[in-house]
This record gives sequence, structure tokens and C-alpha cells, in this order.
Amino acid sequence: MNIAVIGAGTMGNGIAHVFAMNGHNVNLCDISEEALDKALETIKSNLWRMVAKEKITEEIHDNSLKNITTYTDIKDAVQGADLVIEAASESEEIKLQLFKIIDEHAPEACILASNTSSISITKIASATDRPEQVIGMHFMNPVPIMKLVEVIRGYKTSDETTKEVIALSEKIGKIAVEVNDYPGFIANRILMPMINESIFALYQGVAGVKEIDSIMKLGMAHPMGPLELADFIGLDVCKAILDVLYEGYGEAKYAPCPLLVNMVQAGNMGKKSGEGFYDYSEHRKAEVVASNFK
Ligand code: NAD
Repeated sequence: MNIAVIGAGTMGNGIAHVFAMNGHNVNLCDISEEALDKALETIKSNLWRMVAKEKITEEIHDNSLKNITTYTDIKDAVQGADLVIEAASESEEIKLQLFKIIDEHAPEACILASNTSSISITKIASATDRPEQVIGMHFMNPVPIMKLVEVIRGYKTSDETTKEVIALSEKIGKIAVEVNDYPGFIANRILMPMINESIFALYQGVAGVKEIDSIMKLGMAHPMGPLELADFIGLDVCKAILDVLYEGYGEAKYAPCPLLVNMVQAGNMGKKSGEGFYDYSEHRKAEVVASNFK
């Protein structure tokens, strides 16, 4: 199949990697040449790691790279596509604009999917003339490793589109789980209140960063504590998703903790900014700021 992936950042490169490795032609598109170069480097090194671990052969490595073509013009990238997966920056304005252009240039039968974490699929679909062929394919980070694809049915998404996307997800070795399009879908509706509650516990001085993370790791068998996970996702992203839940349901339980709001306003976004609940500025991360709230 011909797959167009729009956006070559963290998620886009992972999605391109998985489809290319499973024998599909991938047109990877980004407005930034630099992002495309970086994506190809990342895909190469991740494929090599899989060869080293004997998960794939060198031949699959070589063929996967051959299956990927890069584009900066979206109109060229979506031509001849059977499926477009949009994984551009999480902005409603960008996504609505992108889906309008994709709808104009992709073949009539093409399914249009978005990897959005929090924007309404129904709203995205309304920017197109084919809402029944628009769907959410919410991959998890890192895409080559995580099994889940949360498949989100918009208000008008057809059964046929849903079935095709589930079947395709399974063909690339993922497990697809179908949900309806309401704020936060399922993954983030459940994950974000847990992260927010951990931040509240810290803010109220109930326990420190390491204690909260240790309890959830050792007691609940979570591979990562909620505060470490929040740093990994990005505190700005966590706050933005909580805002969507709060606005969408109008319930106080989703309101972002004032400590989270303060940290985002101070520019402490977690791993990507070098500091969040942990300090990433040195080789070894250490507990920081948040311990001041004890
Ligand atoms: P990112 O910032 O790493 O990458 C986004 C890319 O989109 C950038 O390279 C940017 O240049 C590109 N872009 C922006 N506007 C564009 C346009 N008009 N046309 C083409 N490319 C454009 O972001 P990311 O973390 O990969 O997230 C992408 C999407 O995936 C978002 O919708 C996000 O909510 C979702 N998502 C992210 C994660 C995660 O853990 N990072 C998990 C699940 C879903």
C-alpha cells in the first residue's frame, strides 16, 4: 500500500519506520528539510538497533529505507496514497488547514487518519468533504515498540473505514482498539488525571517526586512513575490535554494542578527543556525543583 505520513517529528518517523518495515511505500512529508533529514537518521539508527538485536535482517533494514521517500510539498506526498496519516504538530489550526489540502489532493478512495492526542476527529473531519473516511490512529511513543493503536471513530466515520484501519494496524503488528471520539479518547482521559493527581499529591506535600514515582512503579508495576512519564511526554503537552478534558467535560476534576501550570509557565517542560520534575541537564538525572514543595 502507499502510505503518506505528514509530519516527520517524533511520531511521524516512528510511523514511517513501522510501515516501511512491513513492506509499504511511505511518502514522508514535513515542511522542514531538517526534520526530514533528522527523521531518516533516526529511522536508520532504530532499524540498525533492531538488526543488532536480531529482530530484523539486514535485508529488511535495507528494503525499509528504500521504501521511504521524503517530500516537502504535501500535494506531491499524498498523490496516489491509499492512506494518509497526519502526525504534524498538535495545533488545531495546523491540522484543519492540512486536512483541507489533503482532502483536495489525495485520491477519492484514500482514508485520512490523524495521530492527534487530543483534537476532535469529528472537527478535523469537518474540514474535509469525506468525513466518513476520516479516523484517528493514535500511535504510542516510541511507535516501533509500543503495540497499541487507539483507533478513534469520529461522529461520521464509516464502519468500512474503521474495519480497514483496524485490519491494516494488525498487519503491521499492532493491536488496534476502537473507541469513540470524545475528549481525551480513552488513553489520555485515564492517563492524564492520574498524572495530574500525582502532581497534586506533590503540590500538597503528601510525598516527594521519587516517593510518588517509586510507589507507582513498585506497587502498581508501572514501568515508569507518573512524574517521570509526565516529563517524558512534555509538561506543556500534559497541560494542553488536561485543558481539552476540562473544557470538553466542564468538570473540575480535570483542571490542571496549579504546580503544573506554574512549571509550564516557567518553561520547565520536562525532558525536552532539560528540567521538569527531574533534572536532565547532566548525564545522570536527579530529583529537582519539585522537592521544594515538600
Ligand atoms: P513533533 O513536534 O516531534 O513533530 C511535528 C512535526 O510536524 C515537525 O517536524 C514539524 O516540522 C511538522 N509540521 C508542522 N506543521 C507541518 C505542516 N503544515 N506540514 C507538514 N509538517 C508539519 O511532534 P510529535 O510529538 O511527533 O507529535 C505529532 C502528533 O502526534 C501530534 O498530533 C501529537 O499530539 C501526536 N502524538 C504525540 C505523541 C508523543 O508522545 N510525542 C504520542 C501520541 C500522539
